[in-house]
Amino acid sequence: SVYDFLERPLFKWGVCFSGKKTGIMFQDITTLLLDNKAFKHTVDIFVDRYRGMDISVVAGVEARGFMFGTAIALAIGAKFVPLRKPKSCQGRVCFNGEVIAEAYELEYGSDCLEMHVGAVEAGERAIVIDDLVATGGTLSAAIRLLERVGAQVVECGCVIGLRQVKGQRRLNGKPLYILVEPR
Ligand code: AMP
Repeated sequence: SVYDFLERPLFKWGVCFSGKKTGIMFQDITTLLLDNKAFKHTVDIFVDRYRGMDISVVAGVEARGFMFGTAIALAIGAKFVPLRKPKSCQGRVCFNGEVIAEAYELEYGSDCLEMHVGAVEAGERAIVIDDLVATGGTLSAAIRLLERVGAQVVECGCVIGLRQVKGQRRLNGKPLYILVEPR
């Protein structure tokens, strides 16, 4: 199945390691990017799903959501809207222009997502892409950002869904699409 195909490159090179924060097993999707066929296959699954759904916005969560989101946006003919984390900018300018922000809680602290004002217009149909969903806090903040500007969030799509969200196929009332769930 596609899941077996994806899980092999995802998990074969010891992609999981314990982070410094106690108890967090970090899932590193950058090893998937090293396998051209698996990366393309991953993107194609999303593209097949979202093509023809009249999506005009692919919002990607910094940073690993950018890696999948940009490829998906190009393939389905939508604009790519980066949702940036101001912390990653370390005082430099993240966006050239006005932004709106949404804060959210993480397993290990809190964070914030920012989006360009004017990037998305009311009534546009959007999907949100990230590499992984754990508690769903990040995706919920992304949904709030898009809904604040009047966009319709059609679905959130992630490569990996942790057990915490197993069985939970919706997020803030939005469908959640996951490719693999680590055992
Ligand atoms: P959450 O908001 O709890 O759903 O966390 C999802 C976000 O945090 C995503 O942007 C992930 O990249 C990152 N993240 C959370 N937990 C992990 C983990 N165990 N391994 C890799 N990334 C994670």
